[in-house]
Amino acid sequence: TEKREAPVLIIGSGYGGAVSALRLCEAGKKVIMLEMGLNWEKAGIPFSNLLKPGKSAAWLKKKSIAPFMNIFSLTPFTGTLDRLDFDHINIWVGRGVGGGSLVNGGMAVTPKESYFREVFPDLDAEQFYSFYFPLVQKELKVNVIDEQFLQECPYYKFTRVGEEEAHKAGFKTIRVPNVYDFKYMEKEFRNEVPRSALNTEVIYGNNHGKNSLDKTYLRKALETGNLEILDLHHVQNMKLNDDKTYTVSAHHIDTSGNIIADKTFTCKKLILAAGTMGTLQLLLRSNAVNGFPLHEKVGKNWGNNGNFMTGRNWVKPLSGGTGSKQSTIPVGGVDNWEDKEHPFFTEIAPLPMGMDVATALYLLINRVEKKGEVAFDKTRDILTLKWDESNTVKMRENAKYFVRKMNTANGGTRSHFLFNNGFGADICYHPLGGCVLGEATDRYGKVKNHDNLYVLDGSLIPGTIGVNPFVTITAIAEYCIENLIRQNEFAL
Ligand code: FAD
Repeated sequence: TEKREAPVLIIGSGYGGAVSALRLCEAGKKVIMLEMGLNWEKAGIPFSNLLKPGKSAAWLKKKSIAPFMNIFSLTPFTGTLDRLDFDHINIWVGRGVGGGSLVNGGMAVTPKESYFREVFPDLDAEQFYSFYFPLVQKELKVNVIDEQFLQECPYYKFTRVGEEEAHKAGFKTIRVPNVYDFKYMEKEFRNEVPRSALNTEVIYGNNHGKNSLDKTYLRKALETGNLEILDLHHVQNMKLNDDKTYTVSAHHIDTSGNIIADKTFTCKKLILAAGTMGTLQLLLRSNAVNGFPLHEKVGKNWGNNGNFMTGRNWVKPLSGGTGSKQSTIPVGGVDNWEDKEHPFFTEIAPLPMGMDVATALYLLINRVEKKGEVAFDKTRDILTLKWDESNTVKMRENAKYFVRKMNTANGGTRSHFLFNNGFGADICYHPLGGCVLGEATDRYGKVKNHDNLYVLDGSLIPGTIGVNPFVTITAIAEYCIENLIRQNEFAL
């Protein structure tokens, strides 16, 4: 076993990890970051697109794992997209240096202030809306599509049709900002640069255009000279030592998933940023394996951010459906949040399958009326999730209401093409909570019952935020790390 010491260790290179790394490195701290996925930039391996899944398509699996249409066999490789299967829900996550930013749709949505206040009654909302949200929009390079380009580009027919139909049905639509560089996309369309969003690249990585974390926070952090990122380092568990330091055990793997070395890292300060499910797995598994101290609130207050997928078939069949060519980057949404009976937000999602399947796809984001709970089964060595149909009753009701209203106004049927019964209740892209700010941690993310352990990722958000979550995750991480540094938590 190879042994190393580090003053500050961060596990995971997604939003929470990248923010923590940058701010600590700027403050002059030496940081080591362990990431189980591959450093794609360094490896120089291109990402594959939706129509031709290759190396980047799946985390060590023999078959692709897109939400639909998995007909492709693969040679297992440490790809960017992983799916965690539970009894009643499947959760997709990103793997690699950059975490979820490599595979996500880049939708950069600031939550509604009223809902943010409801979800985080103890935070100073004014400070978030005047400082942290603008800060992360700048750091993440958030921009908005040019309206004329959207109206003219054939690749956005699905958005134009979706918005037109929503208006006819009496819904309000909104423009959704993104981290994908829309000026780059315009050049793609004019064939001046290699195509990415217009070449069905997204959930297996974008070769161009998308400002994922490796191009923003992580690049800046590396430029300080204080950050070392070790990729293909899969952390197995953590141990609390008598002197209150931590020893972290990791497998160094190759791109086929074989273990090439066992490593241990001893650190004074440990930041967990392995994403909601990754962080919960590390905490609960370490507790099962070596009695790692846990607070009773760890695992509690978990939610799917109200994710509920649905679709409609034969959208305007006579006018040519939603288009055979579609950009992978969503820019439109239906905002029904103010409706007291049926509050939801839904993304007008692309379905770029290389042909016109006359199907409209929607990812609804609802309130989470009934939260779930994450635990660990020691005998089977797996995370378990207390979550079933009873947790999604209201989400299904909202989806039914939405689809019915859209179909009444525009024609169409529920999409049996995509889902059993027309609904995808079990599809989750936004796992949140389980290590909630102020419940399992103090008000800045320091884990209760510990002196040198912090959680800074999606697990801090109590299961719901009403919109796509990464802008909020990034802002909360900025807020926490700034205050932790100010309190001299990292004065070593
Ligand atoms: P993550 O970004 O998940 O990062 C955690 C990192 O830790 C990963 O790189 C992981 O490999 C690593 N890790 C985990 N366990 C270990 C371990 N044991 N050892 C070492 N490393 C480990 N959100 C939006 O706001 N807008 C969108 O448009 C959007 N689209 C999405 C589309 C898809 C297909 C998916 C899957 C998600 C999408 N999301 C979107 C959600 C968003 O990507 C996540 O909410 C976000 O990435 C979570 O950030 P995080 O910092 O909590 O952790």
